[in-house]
Amino acid sequence: MFEERLHQLEEQHLLRRLLLIESEPGTVVTIEGRRVILMASNNYLGLATHPKLKQAAVSATERFGVGSGASRLVSGTLPPHEELEMALARFKGVEAALVFSSGYLANIGLIPALIGSGGLILADRLCHASLIDGCRLSGANLRIFRHRDTDQLRTLLARRSAGRDTLIVTDGVFSMDGDLAPLPELVELADRHGARLLVDDAHGTGVMGPQGRGTLEHFGLESRLSFHMGTLGKALGTSGAYVAGPASLIRYLVSTARSFLFSTAPPPATAAASLTALDILRSEPDRRTRLWENRDRFYKGLKALGFRTTDTVSPIIPVLIGDPDKALDMARLLLKQGVYAPAIRPPTVPKATSRIRATVTSEHTSEQLKTVLAAFQTAGQELDLI
Ligand SMILES: *Cc1c(COP(=O)(O)O)cnc(C)c1O
Repeated sequence: MFEERLHQLEEQHLLRRLLLIESEPGTVVTIEGRRVILMASNNYLGLATHPKLKQAAVSATERFGVGSGASRLVSGTLPPHEELEMALARFKGVEAALVFSSGYLANIGLIPALIGSGGLILADRLCHASLIDGCRLSGANLRIFRHRDTDQLRTLLARRSAGRDTLIVTDGVFSMDGDLAPLPELVELADRHGARLLVDDAHGTGVMGPQGRGTLEHFGLESRLSFHMGTLGKALGTSGAYVAGPASLIRYLVSTARSFLFSTAPPPATAAASLTALDILRSEPDRRTRLWENRDRFYKGLKALGFRTTDTVSPIIPVLIGDPDKALDMARLLLKQGVYAPAIRPPTVPKATSRIRATVTSEHTSEQLKTVLAAFQTAGQELDLI
């Protein structure tokens, strides 16, 4: 019975509750009537509240209404959907793209369309839950390799029976650790062993690479991978996700990806706002400059204070604590000082790696980051972390 399980979770301090943000999700938000600095959003470039995105959403709503009314295949495909897919394909330098209502839906639709029972999936241990769920749904044999461990992956590839259909699955930027997949090695290994590679670039899109095209651009690997997926709800500030690749793959997904077929099309407002977000990536590159300046300032500040972090090279900055209760105490002490950075505990992260996951955006001011660092120092000293 779920009541019993609920009680267990409560006893183990693993019960989660929803936190209400009572204002626009900018860098300062209202939580329980108090103004606090938000260090928890994946809205890396501040686009979720950008006036041009709001305007695009309002205009599309006025023209096309609020809801799409049906799945894309029935009668839900509206001009903003097609325009967005063409713009995504141009942005990514591929033939075509397909938009899903969320990254979760994209992954649970894409993976079972790519591979089935009889196939083998090799996935990084810290892959996003939606990738793991997609792998499970596919019915393929799922093997997990240690985080970023290309030696173990090589062994697993060498050991499988010759010619077995194989898909390697990884995040581009890992969502809880902020580090990067070793993509150059993964691409080499996939090529050498005749395996395919799926990169989920949810946290790379809009952030990594000189033009913000993502982790593949960062590594100079765009020409080496024929397809990948990413999301629109993080740096692009809207919601939804895309698969970008050859026209044949996109045509195939339209007819086979169940989370695309059997789900109502995203609202026209969301598609139109995403299209505008792609324009802004190009027209306001200073947002990315400010993001990286803020990221470096905050990361160096935490290191100088003596906090332990991961191999992060992204705007995701985890402060490793270990014990889940201590991580919760840390979050509470931060909140008391007007800083919201959440504690992340199992099952979201492995045992003994409970942490505060702080994220930096282009819109944080240096004053705000100073305040946040001071709060981390006070809380860290009180808990004997530094
Ligand atoms: C957030 C995230 C997703 C899920 O995307 P949603 O659009 O939020 O459903 C998928 N993969 C990774 C790596 C993510 O970080």
